[in-house]
Amino acid sequence: MEEDAGTLPSKKDFSAWYNDILWRAEIMDVRYPVKGLYVWYPFGFAIRKRVYQTLRDLLDVDHEEALFPLLIPEHEFMKEAEHIKGFENEVYWVTHGGRNELDVPLALRPTSETAIYPMYALWVRSHADLPLKIYQIVNTFRYETRHTRPLIRLREITSFKEAHTVHATWEDAERQVEAALDLYRRFYDRLCVPVLISRRPDWDKFPGADYTMAVDTIMPDGKTLQIGTVHHLGDQFSKTFGITYEDVNGEQQYVYQTCYGISERSIAALISVHGDDRGLVLPPDLAPLQVVIVPIIVARRRDEVIRAAGDLEEELLGCGLRVKTDLREIRPGAKYYHWEMRGVPLRIEIGPRDLDGGVVTAVNRYGEHAAISRDQVAAGVADMLASFRDQMREVAETRMKEHIRTADSLADAAESVKDGVVAVCWCGSAECADAIEEQVDASILGTDVRSSEMMTSAGTCISCGRTGALALISRTY
Ligand code: ZN
Repeated sequence: MEEDAGTLPSKKDFSAWYNDILWRAEIMDVRYPVKGLYVWYPFGFAIRKRVYQTLRDLLDVDHEEALFPLLIPEHEFMKEAEHIKGFENEVYWVTHGGRNELDVPLALRPTSETAIYPMYALWVRSHADLPLKIYQIVNTFRYETRHTRPLIRLREITSFKEAHTVHATWEDAERQVEAALDLYRRFYDRLCVPVLISRRPDWDKFPGADYTMAVDTIMPDGKTLQIGTVHHLGDQFSKTFGITYEDVNGEQQYVYQTCYGISERSIAALISVHGDDRGLVLPPDLAPLQVVIVPIIVARRRDEVIRAAGDLEEELLGCGLRVKTDLREIRPGAKYYHWEMRGVPLRIEIGPRDLDGGVVTAVNRYGEHAAISRDQVAAGVADMLASFRDQMREVAETRMKEHIRTADSLADAAESVKDGVVAVCWCGSAECADAIEEQVDASILGTDVRSSEMMTSAGTCISCGRTGALALISRTY
């Protein structure tokens, strides 16, 4: 990377900042010669590995990981009518094997219901097999016609975690929806990314689902980014694919299902919510490098300082931290710039004055300095990392709250929505939804909002004045 090729644009110009940080911090290379397909740099991939390991750890408590094929035969893909309608314009088809036209065209999965459920029909036999909770982390393909953007709108989603569960009753599946939302809440808490959870309006639900719950975050430009969805599929797919179980009375019953997904948009959120004008800001648990040691070298005491830096690195590595000493022959300022861009949570400077004072100078990614006694360095570093993570969470939550307003008129909502999410009252009718979306120039994000801090009591619809309930409106990615 050419680090002196200008500087990162201010985050106030979010779109320019986002495009720039992806290459400056070595996350994605956008130069791959197919539209909508991007390349993970090793550093970006190291972040991805930690983020997805976090997700795996949460899922593995009561889910099992499996792996289904990328290719779905046309006859399976075409079985569920609503599902097809939802995806038919986005599917890539494999029609040839070598020079031979295939008897059965094969779809590149845009999502895997139609790959997984024919197998579930074979696997599920009796009530003893339920619940079944399986997930996979795979790439999926969608022929996006809108403007593509790395990690956000892709033709190859490289990191789609999709879970598919099977239950005996509708209510069991509903409980799984809540459990999945709770799991996603905990996942984003580890990323220090605040979320809004709500129920998508019916016209915006997953094709074939009874209902869809969604997890969104607010990006720096005030638009919302959907970063997770949980769908109650009812028995629609089980009837289509013949997934039944024998109940305790020996009768065949259709199962009820859920599915829920998270993609690399989680990493887009991680980058966008926390980053600043100097680069990435990463939570210590997810940062590929947690501590960088920068020796401050003066010629006279060069060996002594380098030896001290090496000893410190060894001690911190011994505590299980991800640490590196930057010994490059460049000035310290250039090193600071380099590691701040990559979001390293803590920098430790060690120079002659620190040696004489029996301390090291620690600087967190927000630029806050502290002198840590050399004798207590391991505990001091652990404390600083932990409090930095808490600070990140607080900063992000405060910022999100600043982006949420309430409005009791359409004019009010139209003004406030330019800067974030607007909480309004809506009667639930489609006519009012159309009126609101048109006059506010934004979308109804969801209802049934899972936030204790937001107004939940009934009020009057901002469009028609009838009784209504809380709904969120935003401009969306
Ligand atoms: Zn209304």
